[in-house]
Amino acid sequence: MTIEVHAATVVVPVVTGPIRDGAVAVDEGRILAVGARTEIEDLYGAAIHRHDGVLTPGLVNAHTHLQLTAYADMATLGVSFAEWVGLFFARYRATTTDEWLASARDGVQQVLASGTTAVADVDTYGFAAVAAQEAGLVGIRYQEVVGADDIRWPKLRAELETRLGAADAGLSPHSLYTNSSETMRTIGELARERGLRLHPHAAETVDECEFVFSGTGPFAVGADRTGLLLDLAGRGCGMTPVARLDALGLLGPDVHIAHGVHVDAADRALLRERGTAVALCPRSNAILHSGEAPVAAYLREGNQIAVGTDSSASNLDLDVLGDVQALRALAISQGYDEPDLDRRLIEAATIGGAAALGMRDIGRLEVGARADLAVFDVPIVDDIYASLVASGHGSCTVTVLAGAVVPRNSLPSKEIS
Ligand SMILES: [Zn+2]
Repeated sequence: MTIEVHAATVVVPVVTGPIRDGAVAVDEGRILAVGARTEIEDLYGAAIHRHDGVLTPGLVNAHTHLQLTAYADMATLGVSFAEWVGLFFARYRATTTDEWLASARDGVQQVLASGTTAVADVDTYGFAAVAAQEAGLVGIRYQEVVGADDIRWPKLRAELETRLGAADAGLSPHSLYTNSSETMRTIGELARERGLRLHPHAAETVDECEFVFSGTGPFAVGADRTGLLLDLAGRGCGMTPVARLDALGLLGPDVHIAHGVHVDAADRALLRERGTAVALCPRSNAILHSGEAPVAAYLREGNQIAVGTDSSASNLDLDVLGDVQALRALAISQGYDEPDLDRRLIEAATIGGAAALGMRDIGRLEVGARADLAVFDVPIVDDIYASLVASGHGSCTVTVLAGAVVPRNSLPSKEIS
């Protein structure tokens, strides 16, 4: 294969400082060199793509559900989380096989159009895995287990085990309010036996915290209504969701949690101690009235953070830079005033996401990494991270997967609300 060069007004390798008039040389889908355009062109200048704008590693969406893209109308209902969950499951049961696949394909195309090239995707039936593979989108497909009490679990486990062969597979035990404690613990063991990563939802709402601590509230009522026999219902365990996950063996460097909104200082310390990253989903949290994650505390205390959009059912689009912008506003409202804020948020959406997925060859522009790239049409100013954070949402013009430019006319046009 011929070596190709992608040159841009500014190149942001993330692992090193921005390069004005920079370039990346690509060979066999991997990065061969990163540096000044003139040097890279002298060395490898046969086939050159010149991009106006800022070239970054492809973004990493650390929490999404691509299969749910067709549920976009649910993001504007304005109902509480508990009501939303009820409506969600009613619709979920009525969705057909063809609809799931079309929905997942739409999600993959939207993600690529926004400059995201890797996802931590929670997938129930495998349709999103098919759609991602067709398009060349990488990441980890977390097989979801939801609604598993001790009675339903043996059957669900047998079905699950037939689908765990793929190299990109992980497991997503949904949450402490939709699965029994024993199921959650067993899924952790199953993942460790097979070397699979784990990705549960945790500490998303106060209702979840109440259910885990005392066994009461809307999730206890919901479990009762649907006949789900959860051991925490009616009694709780006197713990926070993060502490409970740890007690069940579900934290560790091979795990990242989604949301992490309602976490106290002890929870954050436990996450750091276990090496567990958090995928922050601020726009989803705002839409579902779930609360505001302590972004400033996570940043000051040095927790590993990544950025997720969550699904279209609780967000306005699948562009992680929309959530990066929301995280900035939250951090500032919480008193974070360090000058590194923009850089750290761009890191969260790139190498932070890669770390959350346990992938070392994405989210960075360095020799040997996958040549997954994105170009953003944002103002060229001194602080390019600030420009990406302020103006990057909806500004992706080029997406490159393993060295190949994704044809723009195959992608949906951007619609930013
Ligand atoms: Zn989710």
